[in-house]
Amino acid sequence: MNMITNHLPTEELQALDAAHHMHPFTEGEGLAEKGARVITRANGVWITDSDGQEILDGMAGLWCVAIGYGRDELAEVAARQMRELPFYNTFFQTTHVPAIALAKKLAELAPDDLNHVFFAGSGSEANDTNIRMVRHYWAMKGQPERNIILSRKNAYHGSSMGSGSLGGMAGMHAQGGLPIPDIHHINQPNWWAEGGDSDPADFGLARARELETAIKEHGPERVAAFIGEPVQGAGGVIVPPETYWPEIQRICDHYGILLIADEVICGFGRTGNWFGSQTMGIRPHIMTVAKGLSSGYAPIGASIVCDEVAQTIAKDEFNHGYTYSGHPVAAAVALENLRILEEEKVVEHVRDVAGPYLKEKWQALEDHPLVGEARIVGLMGSIALTPDKASRAGFAGEAGTVGYICRERCFANNLVMRHVGDRMIIAPPLVITRDEIDILIDRARKSLDETYEKIRKDGLWAAA
Ligand SMILES: *Cc1c(COP(=O)(O)O)cnc(C)c1O
Repeated sequence: MNMITNHLPTEELQALDAAHHMHPFTEGEGLAEKGARVITRANGVWITDSDGQEILDGMAGLWCVAIGYGRDELAEVAARQMRELPFYNTFFQTTHVPAIALAKKLAELAPDDLNHVFFAGSGSEANDTNIRMVRHYWAMKGQPERNIILSRKNAYHGSSMGSGSLGGMAGMHAQGGLPIPDIHHINQPNWWAEGGDSDPADFGLARARELETAIKEHGPERVAAFIGEPVQGAGGVIVPPETYWPEIQRICDHYGILLIADEVICGFGRTGNWFGSQTMGIRPHIMTVAKGLSSGYAPIGASIVCDEVAQTIAKDEFNHGYTYSGHPVAAAVALENLRILEEEKVVEHVRDVAGPYLKEKWQALEDHPLVGEARIVGLMGSIALTPDKASRAGFAGEAGTVGYICRERCFANNLVMRHVGDRMIIAPPLVITRDEIDILIDRARKSLDETYEKIRKDGLWAAA
């Protein structure tokens, strides 16, 4: 058997990693010098590194480990499925039981007439499916010129050519020839950073109405769809003003364009409902799901599609699919994950217990001298670091410097909290308990204190 159990010292692992392993979204040379943190085991909300440090995972891996680490049931199901049918494809008029059962389950869980599932191996792949599906849908309706998809700056929809184009990350568009044609971006509903003197409610409406302006500019007969995350995740957990989504919905309805909700982070309980669309009052035609679908135990994503779009697409051969669409092991693992979420009432735990408890403690961080706003929906939260709460100013130095320092302090204090620029973000496993939330908050506060001390000392405490 090929053993992947570790017997090597940390420095040796780091040297091998630096020599051969290219990391995503990472400056390789800098990491090689510093050495990557090696994670060896995990249980519940805790991850353990190769030096034996126990770290509270405030990011649920990469937003995905909803049920926490170490659930044997998923390992059992995966092993059983591998023995029975490790792989078969769903091309060429064949199917298998795990894909059927998972599609049926997702149709039950998803709201309204979102009854049809196209499987993928990841969120990026599912969003690539969505680009081709909505364009093909309009072509089938006799409107092939309707191929523009509107999205938002600072959105994250994945890292492939298509999904990276849907996303509005300037740093990604600067590399490798993105975006692909006929994808355009409007401004995001980020009141803290971009709202100026306006009232949040007015700002939310104004940002939503940029969709209408864009539709008119390109011509309503050219626009296929709008895509958005109910709450932007990788962009910094940006909670939109309450006025935002109802106005987006009104505009999509008015112009008859398809609405795609990217639920890759928000789906499966993260916001305190099964889907972020329910929390935000959105009625999408298509939902993208991944991450929490399998709690990250196996790679799987999907597009959950409404009757009208699915039935139209079904009239022709859709020349699209992935070898691993509906992979039987991943589908079986996802089903078991959904069973646990349902039977252990994890979504209710987020809504009624962990969410409200964390919200109170999180918002109390606003009394810290470094913290401007502290926002949270369910179990996804962010805080804006600022040298001047009243003006909501950024720091004078390069954006992200203070956020990076804070993240380093969190690492040193055995808490995983990420930074996006000078915003700190958390999205812990959904099963986190009150005691664990207390630890998370204690470590976050300690890290903020240390960051504050350090930046005062280093002369970084100045407004831009
Ligand atoms: C992570 C993410 C994706 C991409 O999913 P991958 O599985 O990494 O391809 C898409 N949309 C959102 C909102 C995400 O957070």
